[in-house]
Amino acid sequence: MSGPTAAAAGPAARRVLLLGGTAEARELAELLEADPAFDVESSLAGRVANPRLPVGRSRIGGFGGADGLADYLREGRFAAVVDATHPFAATISGNVAAAAEATGLPRLSVVRPEWVPGPSDSWVRVPTVAAAAAELASRTSGRALLTTGRQDVHEFAHLDTWWFVVRVVDPPSKGLPRRCALLLDRGPYTVEGERDLMRRNRIDVLVTKNSGGDLVSAKLTAARENGVDVVMVDRPDRPGGATVTTAADAFSWLVSTGSGPRAN
Ligand code: NAP
Repeated sequence: MSGPTAAAAGPAARRVLLLGGTAEARELAELLEADPAFDVESSLAGRVANPRLPVGRSRIGGFGGADGLADYLREGRFAAVVDATHPFAATISGNVAAAAEATGLPRLSVVRPEWVPGPSDSWVRVPTVAAAAAELASRTSGRALLTTGRQDVHEFAHLDTWWFVVRVVDPPSKGLPRRCALLLDRGPYTVEGERDLMRRNRIDVLVTKNSGGDLVSAKLTAARENGVDVVMVDRPDRPGGATVTTAADAFSWLVSTGSGPRAN
C-alpha cells in the first residue's frame, strides 16, 4: 500500500526503510516523519486484517525473500534500513541482515528488552511454541490462557484434556483446540482486566512468548497475583549488529549515521 510522499521531507532527505509491525516502529515512523532530513517508508507484512498503520508512507506485503528485499532497497535508493519487527519475526530479521549486507547499507535493529521473572514468578521456559505445547501435554490437564498468536495455535490442537482461552487479534486459519473459547482482542491490557479474565476462566497456566515491552505485560503481573504458572517461550536467535531498545535511540542512531546515498 502506498500513501502520499512525506510532505515534510526535503529534496535531500535520506530514505529509510522501516520494517515494522510493532509499537516501536510506529513511534520511530512518527519521529522520522516529523524531521525533514528523513524520508521514511514503513513496511508491514499484512498478517492482520486491520493493522495499526504508522504515520507517513507505508507498504504492505513480503518482498520475496532477502534478494527481493535487496532489490527493493537498491531500486528505492534507500540510505539505511531499520529492522523494528517483532522479536519473534526471525525470518524477516534474517532477510533484513542479508539484504543490508548485499547492498552495503547501514542496518539498525530495534529490539525491546526481554521480560525477566521476578522472585515470586513461577515460569517454565521453553525454546519454541511446540515445546510449550509439549510442556502442557506433560501435565495431565488444566485451563490455559494462550497468547502466543494465531499462527501457532494449531500446536495445541491435540491437547484434548486441556481447556483454553485462545486470545488472538484475528481468528486462526487452522487448528483450534477442541475445548476452547476464542477471544478476539488486541492490547494494551490492564492488570485488573487480565486478573479478571484469569479468575473468571479459572486459568491455571498462562502460555506466552517473551515479547517484552509494556503493552501486553499486564498478564504477567496478573499471573503472579493469581498464582498462575507461566510457560514462557524464549525468543529465537536473531542477527547481531547495531541494536537499540527504543524508538528514540533508533532516531539518534539514524541522525548520527550520515553516510549512504540520498534520495533525489
Ligand atoms: P516472519 O516469519 O519473520 O516473516 C515471514 C515473511 O513475512 C518474511 O519472509 C517476509 O516475506 C514477510 N514479512 C515479515 N515482516 C514483514 C514486514 N515488516 N514487511 C514486509 N514483509 C514482511 O514474520 P512473522 O513472525 O510472520 O511476523 C510478521 C509481522 O508481524 C512482522 O512484521 C512482525 O513485526 C509482526 N508481528 C509478529 C509477531 C510474532 O509473534 N511473530 C507479533 C507481533 C507482530 P518475504 O520473504 O516475502 O519478504
